[in-house]
Amino acid sequence: MSHTCHAVGCTTQIAKKFFMCPHHWSMVDKDTQRSLYAEYKQGLRDNNHPTLAWYEDAHEAMQQVLQIECSADHREPTESEKYRAGICKRIAQRRQAGSSP
Ligand SMILES: [Zn+2]
Repeated sequence: MSHTCHAVGCTTQIAKKFFMCPHHWSMVDKDTQRSLYAEYKQGLRDNNHPTLAWYEDAHEAMQQVLQIECSADHREPTESEKYRAGICKRIAQRRQAGSSP
């Protein structure tokens, strides 16, 4: 089982249990890494679906990587990159809206 690294624009194939390829994962801060893994495991325990907090952490990780990559290239993220890095946030918002009475 494999999927593509979640970093915007990365096409590296990685095992399902990983969120990003080692190169991009190393750009995510340690707190976000820890939290993302904890939420991933919680989601597996609950019902095999990511938790709401997982989406928030995923969003944070994708934003961090995008910012680091763009500042290394001395450029601003494009609209399409910002859109792709914001996908997890939009899913979280939809789920939050759906779960409130
Ligand atoms: Zn990657």
